[in-house]
Amino acid sequence: MKSILSVEKIEKYYGNKDNVTKAIDNISFKVDKGEFVGIMGPSGSGKTTLLNCISTIDNVTTGNIIINDSDITRLKSKALDKFRQNELGFIFQDFNLLDTLTAYENIALALTIKGEKSSEIDEKIKAVAQYLEIGQVLNKYPYQMSGGQKQRVASARAIVTNPSLVLADEPTGALDSKSARLLLERFEDLNKNLKTTILMVTHDSFTASYAHRILFIKDGRLFNELIRGSDTRKEFFNKIIEVVTLLGGDDNNVF
Ligand code: ADP
Repeated sequence: MKSILSVEKIEKYYGNKDNVTKAIDNISFKVDKGEFVGIMGPSGSGKTTLLNCISTIDNVTTGNIIINDSDITRLKSKALDKFRQNELGFIFQDFNLLDTLTAYENIALALTIKGEKSSEIDEKIKAVAQYLEIGQVLNKYPYQMSGGQKQRVASARAIVTNPSLVLADEPTGALDSKSARLLLERFEDLNKNLKTTILMVTHDSFTASYAHRILFIKDGRLFNELIRGSDTRKEFFNKIIEVVTLLGGDDNNVF
């Protein structure tokens, strides 16, 4: 299977020589095309830093990150902007929708920036809206939508460009349990039927149980890896809870 993402011996330091924080300490892993991978770890373990480095928002101190054959640690700012537009889709905990634009316009923006024709944009938005069941909110503004609808609009924006890799940062963090389940079922379907490759950071075991492989990090290092294999989601959830407990979580499955 072809790797879409290859993280190679990365380290990330913050601060100066009198006050250094090693946020990532020699992490390497690969994500193959079509995988759905979760990243878990206690607060302060380096999850956000890792995701920020992969999403080109932050730079690594050493090491390489290869996405779809491009070493993003070597790209300069203009090439990096283009790379981000073409290869990556982002889903954030707090949706990051533009308040002054409708759902339709929020989704269209990613395609307008790429210079696509409005007829093509319209076709793509209608298809993705039907898929994510947000057709009825396309003309609404974010303040007129529920949290679950906002996150499905944000997901539409992330996948409408057909990116190589979708990066999700605590995507269910601001959702009630029903909306979270609905969103995760969509992720599952996207991954299974459209072969979307997803890398998702979460501290929530229920959310993580929808992934097929979990990487656990602690103190900036890879600590453990769980593969779902033929386990049901519930069985996988129980295994995740065991590792979370080992890592220092509690019974509420929150780190
Ligand atoms: P997590 O997302 O798992 O909570 P982070 O990636 O946010 O962890 O943080 C990892 C470590 O790096 C922590 O010790 C944190 O305090 C430190 N850190 C994160 N961002 C910065 C920054 N901009 N400057 C200095 N230290 C930082």
